[in-house]
Amino acid sequence: NAPARDRLRIAIQKSGRLAEPARSLLTACGLSWRQSRDKLFCYGESLPVDLLLVRDDDIPGLIADGVCDFGIVGRNELDEQAAARRQIGLPDTYQALRGLNFGQCRLMLAVPEEWDWQGVQQLAGKRIATSYPAILTDWLAAQGVDAQVVELSGSVEIAPRLGTADLICDLVSSGATLAANQLKPVETLLESEAVLAGPVRTPDDARAGLMAMLLRRLDGVVKQQD
Ligand code: ATP
Ligand code: ZN
Repeated sequence: NAPARDRLRIAIQKSGRLAEPARSLLTACGLSWRQSRDKLFCYGESLPVDLLLVRDDDIPGLIADGVCDFGIVGRNELDEQAAARRQIGLPDTYQALRGLNFGQCRLMLAVPEEWDWQGVQQLAGKRIATSYPAILTDWLAAQGVDAQVVELSGSVEIAPRLGTADLICDLVSSGATLAANQLKPVETLLESEAVLAGPVRTPDDARAGLMAMLLRRLDGVVKQQD
């Protein structure tokens, strides 16, 4: 069991698409931080709520390990790591608590433009490049299709041209990147947005009250935006 703490820790992306909107959202909830000397940790001033600035990939694990109490991360990243944990028999330790109305994108299959797409049965025996192997593996199993998952950590969209895969499964927002690589989207695996993630079990110390208060403020702020 993690030791009791009386300050809350929230993990957000240090830099990238979710960094600025996550910080603005927490500021709108009344949080403020002392100017950080290092660039990783921001000490909460208005409330005992500190920020940890990290890579988005690290956020689910930080919550799972009890290092952070909340995190702001894409549903895609949260679901991928949850699916990967489940596939090796680990229990669910975190969950998406709220959708935050930013960072919208879709996890989609995209095929070369010249393909005549007729449906998922066409994927049999094909190689699919992705940074989301666990979600893709689960989806293929649910569709009853036997295809090969090729895990790539980045530049997934050039894999078909390089010949390392036949098609890709990647995040899409405007579709411009796909078009630039002569790919077209054909199936949606996941509708994603930034979410507030938290532990399945709320800690039974001073953090519980802070977490409840922050959720109430967040609901007020996110509702006003609609
Ligand atoms: P980090 O350095 O933190 O690992 P990253 O390169 O993995 O950064 P970003 O590209 O900043 O991450 O994307 C963060 C999140 O933004 C994604 O996980 C996703 O939820 C969301 N997002 C929204 N639109 C897009 C898009 N078009 N492409 C990629 N991610 C998107
Ligand atoms: Zn990342």
